[in-house]
Amino acid sequence: MTIDSVVRELRGALHASRVRDGALELSLYARDASVIEGKAAAVCFPVSTEEVQAAVRIAVAHGRAVVPRGSGTGLSGGAVPRGSDGLDPVVIVTTKMDRILEVNAEERVAWVEPGVLNLDLTNAISHLGLHFAPDPSSQSACTVGGNVANNAGGPHCLAYGVTSAHVLAVEVVLPNGETALLGGLDPEPPGYDLRGLFVGSEGCMGIATRIAVRLTPSAPAIKTLLADFTSLDDAARTVGDVIAAGVIPAAMEMMDARFVEVIERSLHVGFPPDAAAMLLVETDGLAAGTEAAASAIRSIAEANGARSVRVAADAEERALLWKGRKSAFGAIALIAPNYYLHDTVVPRTRLAEVLRRINDIADAHQLALLNVFHAGDGNLHPLLLFDKRVAGTMERVLDAGKQIIRVCVDAGGVLSGEHGIGLEKTEFMPWIFSGSDLDAQARARCAFDPEHRFNPHKVLPAGSQCGDLRSIPRGAWT
Ligand SMILES: Cc1cc2nc3c(=O)[nH]c(=O)nc-3n(C[C@H](O)[C@H](O)[C@H](O)COP(=O)(O)OP(=O)(O)OC[C@H]3O[C@@H](n4cnc5c(N)ncnc54)[C@H](O)[C@@H]3O)c2cc1C
Repeated sequence: MTIDSVVRELRGALHASRVRDGALELSLYARDASVIEGKAAAVCFPVSTEEVQAAVRIAVAHGRAVVPRGSGTGLSGGAVPRGSDGLDPVVIVTTKMDRILEVNAEERVAWVEPGVLNLDLTNAISHLGLHFAPDPSSQSACTVGGNVANNAGGPHCLAYGVTSAHVLAVEVVLPNGETALLGGLDPEPPGYDLRGLFVGSEGCMGIATRIAVRLTPSAPAIKTLLADFTSLDDAARTVGDVIAAGVIPAAMEMMDARFVEVIERSLHVGFPPDAAAMLLVETDGLAAGTEAAASAIRSIAEANGARSVRVAADAEERALLWKGRKSAFGAIALIAPNYYLHDTVVPRTRLAEVLRRINDIADAHQLALLNVFHAGDGNLHPLLLFDKRVAGTMERVLDAGKQIIRVCVDAGGVLSGEHGIGLEKTEFMPWIFSGSDLDAQARARCAFDPEHRFNPHKVLPAGSQCGDLRSIPRGAWT
């Protein structure tokens, strides 16, 4: 069946203006924030659960795959459209489902639609002394639905936990167009924890259409410290020593020399431009506790050779320091037109050694590299800079990326801390999972999506998809 009849039916079920199949729209929705591209047959923008159900039923009835999408800020190709059976997929974008449906300040719960932007949610409830704790650096642009699907993290997830710790229940549209409510508001909902399975499922098990999120009380006192080092090793050692001392800061971010220099040059936030490495550390809670934690962090940083440790004097200075940390990606345009942001995790004790090896890999591939990352939980974000118009560059970037991931895995790390597997890392999954591990994951996916209609080719490596499972013996990948 041609795509014309799919588009006609979608326009009948949604509104004509909310179903797009023009060349410009298709090319815009062929990508997310990664370097990967795909191809969509049509893009639609439902405004209700019923419209999502209708769009899913139509796509599936026409043999098309469905790709859920929020704001498209994902960095692993999760929302990049890849179809199946030679047919391009229908992309279902949730950004018009952006209502905060209910806020219960007493119970600290809000029901939201999936297209609500992360920062909009926090801004809408801050007058109640509450916030939504997961705070990805992209929080002004990414959706809560995308956060749920990728189990997003952020600087303050060191103390507060990643998205999965803040989602109580999810209403999901399944591949047959029916809805199911996963989880619940009770502290211990009975039955299997399908909410836990769905969070982080990267759009492969259905589309979240309503989400109950936990709201976190905003801390009465916050101390933000900026420690500046003349060596990367000293900064890395400080990270391990702070945690070993039993102090868990709300956030502990590390920035390397090149990053600091670029940010200071473009944003003038007050970073010492000649620092070899810097730590941005935040403690929050009751005033006396934050004071004690800040003083312990200062002593540990100084014992490790910090050249200076500055405490933000007021909310304005704190906001400026965080602006420096979170505006990294815009500032990078000053030095290169393209970047590839990686996401891996290593044990904190191996931070310094792994960073050295990553820098060597970038040098060997003649690529500039910046490091800015959630150091407290060992979540590295090596950022390769390049100009993709230069012939042969992309091959070097991809090879360097693969080597970086390998080094992190060999150091006892994992493939992703927060950006997900998407299309980017499917081939590396056997590096950390056995055949039977992958088999269990594929069977769980199959239970939600037996025909493999939702976001095909994502997360699991080729050969472990639902349809193939029937013929592949258990343990075939081992
Ligand atoms: C500058 C920058 C900084 C970033 N910093 C961070 C960071 O600090 N921490 C972090 O974790 N990530 C970060 N990211 C990555 C990204 O912002 C997050 O993964 C975010 O959660 C994606 O949300 P989105 O709305 O853009 O989702 P998309 O990119 O649109 O989609 C991401 C995945 O979710 C699926 N999906 C989207 N909506 C739904 C839904 N309603 N139901 C089911 N599946 C759905 C898609 O199919 C896809 O697999 C950053 C990205 C950028 C560009």
